[in-house]
Amino acid sequence: DVRHGPILYLEDVSVSFDGFKAINKLNLTIDDGELRCIIGPNGAGKTTMMDIITGKTRPNEGSVWFGSRHNLLHMNEPEIASLGIGRKFQKPTVFEALSVFENLELAMAADKRILATLTARMTGEIQDHIDEVLVLIGLTALRHRPAGILSHGQKQWLEIGMLLMQRPRLLLVDEPVAGMTEQEMERTAELLTSLAGQQSVVVVEHDMGFVRSIARKVTVLHQGSVLAEGSMDQVSNDPKVIEVYLGA
Ligand code: ADP
Repeated sequence: DVRHGPILYLEDVSVSFDGFKAINKLNLTIDDGELRCIIGPNGAGKTTMMDIITGKTRPNEGSVWFGSRHNLLHMNEPEIASLGIGRKFQKPTVFEALSVFENLELAMAADKRILATLTARMTGEIQDHIDEVLVLIGLTALRHRPAGILSHGQKQWLEIGMLLMQRPRLLLVDEPVAGMTEQEMERTAELLTSLAGQQSVVVVEHDMGFVRSIARKVTVLHQGSVLAEGSMDQVSNDPKVIEVYLGA
């Protein structure tokens, strides 16, 4: 189900903060439709890497390409977002007083293409899209309940659904299962796995059991560059990776 060609391409990217190289000649290629997990000890540069992709942090060196045409170094954050790059931060930020349905509707309206949004609303297109997303995130039965009554896991799924309303091509997801129950984690694994193929998904996660349950390919970051890359079995048996995790 993985399409061909890279959707995201970072080449020799470096970022320094006050002379400290948080990202050091990082090379990363994400294929179209791929589900990739990024792991690595604290301070490895995972957050900084996500910040570079969304344009929040500017690299000092290197290049960042989205698809084959878009040089992200020439774009600001809103421009990059409008290419179809959505980011989900660790803490859910849903509108608790609004219903699940209204949260999804609002996420669509937040799109800058207001006219397209209004047209879509009039033709029922948004409703159809919301219905599809509700099924994906498993919240159809709760669609008219306020988001405030949702469990932590359900809020995380709703927020992923809000990102899906914009039909992103690349979703960046930061520690999706932190604070989730075992059952919620299983459901999240199903959700993220089902999204891949339709869009590319990059997940930063600490929970190795979860990473093993979803990842086809894992990238291990260490000191701002790629230490190892491959299947979970390959990277977890890599002596360099073992040293970094056990030595931490
Ligand atoms: P991770 O997400 O893998 O834990 P980070 O990307 O947050 O790693 O951080 C990588 C390194 O860069 C850390 O040593 C961190 O202290 C440093 N760092 C990150 N952001 C800044 C900043 N804005 N100013 C100074 N140092 C930073």
